[in-house]
Amino acid sequence: MPARHSWEIPMLVLVIVLTVFAYLIAVLLLVTGNVDQYVVALVAAPLLLWFGRGITYATQRVNGVRMSPTQFPEGYQMVVDAAARFGMAKVPDAYVVLGNGRINAFASGHGFRRFVVVYSDLFEIGGAAREPDALAFIIGHEVGHIAAGHTSYWRQLGMFLVPFLPIIGSTLIRAQEYTADNHGYCNRHTGASAAMGTLAAGKYMNRLVGFDEMADRAAFEKGFFVWMVNALSSHPVLTWRMWALRDRSRHGKLFLRPNPPAGAAVPTGGYPSSYGEVPANPPKSVL
Ligand SMILES: [Zn+2]
Repeated sequence: MPARHSWEIPMLVLVIVLTVFAYLIAVLLLVTGNVDQYVVALVAAPLLLWFGRGITYATQRVNGVRMSPTQFPEGYQMVVDAAARFGMAKVPDAYVVLGNGRINAFASGHGFRRFVVVYSDLFEIGGAAREPDALAFIIGHEVGHIAAGHTSYWRQLGMFLVPFLPIIGSTLIRAQEYTADNHGYCNRHTGASAAMGTLAAGKYMNRLVGFDEMADRAAFEKGFFVWMVNALSSHPVLTWRMWALRDRSRHGKLFLRPNPPAGAAVPTGGYPSSYGEVPANPPKSVL
């Protein structure tokens, strides 16, 4: 089974404690007559979250193309396979929605239903002639969010304060993303490099991205602002994320950039094979 990032549960506990604490204060303020919009929003969090999840799910039900054996069958099969691989009792629903050039996918739920949504631009790489492995990795990542419990109502309620907790909140989300990447890797490790290339350069230029060349930079791009961009980001920055997908011997880095192997010179084209489980992906000709 894919590993849960080692920081995910400790960060989750911290965030839940802070959220519950803030919630109790909000209730206290409300009953003592200190009404303001943040206090009301926090006290109404259970309702707001339930409402938001219902709206998100309904939007897919009325506008999304539902994957099935006859619509986007390759994607449908990838969802079924990922759910089986992760030992899930129920296969989540899966939808394709218009991407309009954006590269994105997400997983959510409402009540007992769970679903994944794939933007059409991302799905196109799973067409017969393009990069089906990358799509299988991404679908594995999204189904992994569900398998790891990230889409549960109660969990999301406990994380309601995440947008208001700088660094702490985003660090929990980054840990979850590494966990989901571990699921994507488990589902189709050969798709990791093309999936990252697609996130880096889009669905047409993904073939021009040298996975190792970009991952190598994780160890050498340094400084306060590099640290800051990662610390505030909801997803691990791409170079670190690629590094984590390549070095399967440890969990992805949350705060400090990965260390280069001892004595490494400025690398050209990747570290020795002990670091590379993802097949090397030198830039390919687009012709
Ligand atoms: Zn994710």
